Amino acid sequence: MAETTIHILDRDFRLSIPEEVIQQKIKALVTRINDDYAGLNPVMVSILNGAFMFTADLVRYLEFQPEIIFARFSSYDGMDTTGEVRELMGVTADLRGRDVIIVEDIVDTGLTMYNVLPKFKHLGAKSVKIACMLQKPEKLRVDLKVDYCAHEIPNDFIVGYGLDYNGFGRNYRDIYTAVETQ
Ligand code: 5GP
Repeated sequence: MAETTIHILDRDFRLSIPEEVIQQKIKALVTRINDDYAGLNPVMVSILNGAFMFTADLVRYLEFQPEIIFARFSSYDGMDTTGEVRELMGVTADLRGRDVIIVEDIVDTGLTMYNVLPKFKHLGAKSVKIACMLQKPEKLRVDLKVDYCAHEIPNDFIVGYGLDYNGFGRNYRDIYTAVETQ
């Protein structure tokens, strides 16, 4: 049974999306991805650090054979977006002529994916789609098409299931929402 509240560093978080719901949403999402990529061998690029848990669960349900690689970009500092996207670990595979699925933890303002998408296209990918675990639709600030999204959430800051607060909280299998301080 998951704890209903957790404390990380200087903040409290309350349980908002239990493990069972997360897994249910992923299974529903995978059905669509399996239909779209049946018989194909796309490159799945898991965006570190946040997407490691989502990627691990997602790929276990796939019915086609993807090449799985990792890349890392950074736009966040604590709980605030910096708006600037830095490449910390680039793509190592040859993407020319390949179908690419970017696996992201959460799309918030959309700036990270908006800035990252052209990089993949420049590397010669035939198609590039985005699969994310979560999206905060009300916060989207750019014209971004998210092809696959497991679950939409409100504007709150969350941790758990790969997502962190200053490096901590990634290990929880459930998702927790920051409790506003008075
Ligand atoms: P965007 O560029 O769409 O604003 O933000 C994308 C990145 O910001 C995500 O990949 C994630 O790492 C981080 N992020 C966005 N919202 C949250 C949140 O609620 N919690 C955590 N821990 N990270 C978030």
